[in-house]
Amino acid sequence: MTDATTPLGASASRLEVLASIQDLDIRLSQIAHRIEHLPERQMLDDVVREMAAVARRGRELDAEITALERKQRAHEDEVALVEARRSHNSERLYDSHLTSPKEAEALTAEAAALERRQIQIEDVILELMEQIEPLSESRTELAERAEDAARRHDDTETRIAQAVSHAAEERDEVLGARAELVASVPAELIALYDERRIAARGELAVGRLVGLTCSACHLEIPAVDRDRISRLDRDEVVDCPQCGALLVR
Ligand SMILES: [Zn+2]
Repeated sequence: MTDATTPLGASASRLEVLASIQDLDIRLSQIAHRIEHLPERQMLDDVVREMAAVARRGRELDAEITALERKQRAHEDEVALVEARRSHNSERLYDSHLTSPKEAEALTAEAAALERRQIQIEDVILELMEQIEPLSESRTELAERAEDAARRHDDTETRIAQAVSHAAEERDEVLGARAELVASVPAELIALYDERRIAARGELAVGRLVGLTCSACHLEIPAVDRDRISRLDRDEVVDCPQCGALLVR
C-alpha cells in the first residue's frame, strides 16, 4: 500500500477527515473545559467570600464603636452637668455676702466632691477613647481592605469576561472549520463518526495509525492484525484491535 499504487488524488483515506473532525472536537471540549475551569473563577469565589467576611467584621466593629461612643457621649453630657453645677457653686461661694460660713463650708465640700466626680468621669472618657482608637484604626484598615477586594473582584470579573469572549471567538473559528470539513464529505461518513463518538463515551472514537501504533490508545497493532489491516482498502472501515477506535491509515 504505497502512493505509487494509489491513483493520484486518492492517496489520503476518506476517513482522514473524521480524524480531523475529531481533532476539532477535542479542541472544542478543551475550550469549554478551559472556560469552565478558569483559575479566575476560583479567585472570584475567594474574593466574594473575603468581601463578605470583611463586611461582616466591619458591621461588628461599627456596632462596638457606636456602643463605646454612645457611652462616651453620655459621660460627656454628665461632665457638662457637673461643670455647670461647679460654676453655679463657685458663683455662690464668691458671692460671700449671700452665704453664711456654714453654707460656705458646705459649698466648698460640694465643690471638692464635684471636682472629684468630674475627674472620675473624665478618666472613664479617656479610657473609652483609648478603647475606641484601635477599633477606629481597624475600621479604617478594613475599609481599605474592602476597597481593595472590590477592585480585585472587578478586575477578576473583567478577566473572566475577556477569557470567555476570546474562547467564544476561538470556538466560532473551530466550528467554522468543522462545518467546512463536515460539508466536504458524504453525510453517511459523518453519521458513522457521530455513531462512533456516542459509542466511545468520551474516549477517542478515531485513531490514526502512526507507524505501528494507534494514536487513540498508543498501543501497537498486534502483528497478527497488521497484515490483514494493511491489505484492506484505506477507505474501508476497520477498528483498532486494541481499543476499538476507527483506524485511519
Ligand atoms: Zn487503539
